[in-house]
Amino acid sequence: SMTETPAPTLFRIKGRWLLLARSIWIILAIVSISFFIAAIINMYGWSKPCNTYDLPDQADCFKKEQTYAAFGITKDFLGIYYPLGVVVEILPWLLAGIVIFWKKSDEPFGLLFSLMLMVTGTFNLDVGVPEGATSTFPVLAPFWTGMAFIGGLLLVLWYCFPNGRFVPRWLCWAAIIWGILQTGATFFPDSSFSYYNWPYPLPDGITDLLALSIIYSLVHRYRHTSDQIQIQQIKWVVLSGSLLAVMKIIPSLLFNPYVIPWNDNVAVIAQMTYLPLFYLSVMFVGVSLGFSILRYRLWDIDFIINRSLVYGALTILLAILFGGSLFIVSLFVQGQSFVIAFGVTAMIGGTSFNPTRRRIQRFVDQRFYHIQIDYQKPPPALATGGHTQVLHQTHFGQYHGIELIGRGGMAEVYKSAHPTQGTAVAIKILPTALAAETGFRQRFAREAQVISTLTHPNIIRILDSGDQDGQLYMVMEYLAGKDLAQLLKTNGRLPLAQALPLVQQIASALDFAHAAGFVHRDIKPSNILLETSSNGSLRAVLTDFGIAKINNAHTAMTSTGYMLGTFDYVAPEQIQESSKVDGRADIYALGVMIYQMLTGELPFKHSNPGALLIAHLTQPPPDACETLPDLPWHIGDAIQRAMAKKPEERFATASEFAQELAR
Ligand code: ADP
Ligand code: MG
Repeated sequence: SMTETPAPTLFRIKGRWLLLARSIWIILAIVSISFFIAAIINMYGWSKPCNTYDLPDQADCFKKEQTYAAFGITKDFLGIYYPLGVVVEILPWLLAGIVIFWKKSDEPFGLLFSLMLMVTGTFNLDVGVPEGATSTFPVLAPFWTGMAFIGGLLLVLWYCFPNGRFVPRWLCWAAIIWGILQTGATFFPDSSFSYYNWPYPLPDGITDLLALSIIYSLVHRYRHTSDQIQIQQIKWVVLSGSLLAVMKIIPSLLFNPYVIPWNDNVAVIAQMTYLPLFYLSVMFVGVSLGFSILRYRLWDIDFIINRSLVYGALTILLAILFGGSLFIVSLFVQGQSFVIAFGVTAMIGGTSFNPTRRRIQRFVDQRFYHIQIDYQKPPPALATGGHTQVLHQTHFGQYHGIELIGRGGMAEVYKSAHPTQGTAVAIKILPTALAAETGFRQRFAREAQVISTLTHPNIIRILDSGDQDGQLYMVMEYLAGKDLAQLLKTNGRLPLAQALPLVQQIASALDFAHAAGFVHRDIKPSNILLETSSNGSLRAVLTDFGIAKINNAHTAMTSTGYMLGTFDYVAPEQIQESSKVDGRADIYALGVMIYQMLTGELPFKHSNPGALLIAHLTQPPPDACETLPDLPWHIGDAIQRAMAKKPEERFATASEFAQELAR
């Protein structure tokens, strides 16, 4: 169900109004930054002589200092530690605000949102900053109330994230209530108009309810919108928001009298271990908010940042966790046993670090991108290339004089001669190493069966197949010449006039296979063989139905869990649900292949397989005309349409695509 239509062209602020809006923004930003700097300076001041702001009397203060000293933590260290933490925490909010202002200040939503990042970011500095900063900088004091008000009110924008609208509509009432409450709390703090003065637990309950309604709004939008971009944006915000929520909850669960009785020692450990984690999670929210709103059109930047951001942040968090556990060990265990405890902790941390990181990565892949392919699983021996050829003898059954000519993801291909007709044949043999792996035998046998039912000039012809002393093989017509991958490797790219006939032939083969109920699922240049005919023209022949899928078959043998070879051509739906694809997945791969034939480059280039898969899922396909300005525009369009993320937006048949290209 869809509750939204695609966003209309955005309203833009123009002329004098734009100047006014930007001026106000800049004034408020300067105030925010001033507060930020004031807070840092102020913090440096009070961190040093006395470590916490909530211990007013000097005796306590002195005791606390001694506790830190017992841990070997000096005042000078603390003077740097707290301000630095706050810089790490808040700086990304300010920077994201500035970047969005820079790029989008003519869009009302961009303007408000960037302001919110600045103001709410500094407003987060609640660590004794208002009093501290206002007493240090009295001129700024009157601004503080106003800023707090705006900060609170702008939280309403969260409801409208990421496109400035309320979804579902009725949530605007929650926003209105929030606005009224915030006005009362800010401007009439002593009256009963301020909800802070209402009897407990009303104020807390109201705040929690409003926060929950924001989460509801985001989740609702996530589930009901069909806009891929918005879905991605919401994911990051929900991810970082939940991380922050968890960080907020941890101390109340952990540092309560039933789990860890609170005392000065525990307080010091908490400040040194938990606080940095909290700072980082606040930082993460700011960054992911900023970049997910930038996502509207800045695809590439955003993409790189998002991915490195998530995995990078997770890796840093893990490193801190392991580092933190070492630190805790060093606090509690002394003497000789310290060396042992330290060593054991370090070893556990060291050995479990990478597996944990990989597990988190897999979790993110599956939960946030629905990637079903396990690209972290090592491929079978054959695909890694570390093996020798299967056959050492010069004959195989009745075939003599065999020689190795090719090797793919699954099998080895040998050349020989037909025993009676004398014509050249190609024999594809499943290596015994792979025959032992589940699925490969069936897959190989099925390939022979699939191809033998398909008689088409552009599909490889099968002459014989069977089982020779436990070794599965199939005999095909031999095609002298290169495969398309080799041709592209030597030529770089093909001129349109040479590429089009090849595309037409492959399209015709694909439509034939699709009509017969087969999806190839591994269309790529190395599976297109080329034969030069007597008049010099090229015949394209489709091979390797190794992972083909029979539509509507009950014996749906999908994959063995490995994805052989390359992810360069894989359709989005094949990444997410390989067992349910239809012929349009082949059309996607054909689109990628044609893009590569014409431009000499792949549309999505990432050496990291995870990044490549995410690019197929989320990144809009590039326009070939941008690389090749001479290319007719309709060709660039047609290729992009073939590479559409949704199958229903692609061409219905491969020939329809080929015709559009030849137009
Ligand atoms: P795999 O399933 O292992 O990928 P393929 O069927 O794709 O196996 O074959 C691997 C390689 O062997 C091809 O890329 C091609 O170079 C060569 N090859 C396969 N079949 C033939 C054939 N009939 N004639 C000539 N060469 C072939
Ligand atoms: Mg192959």
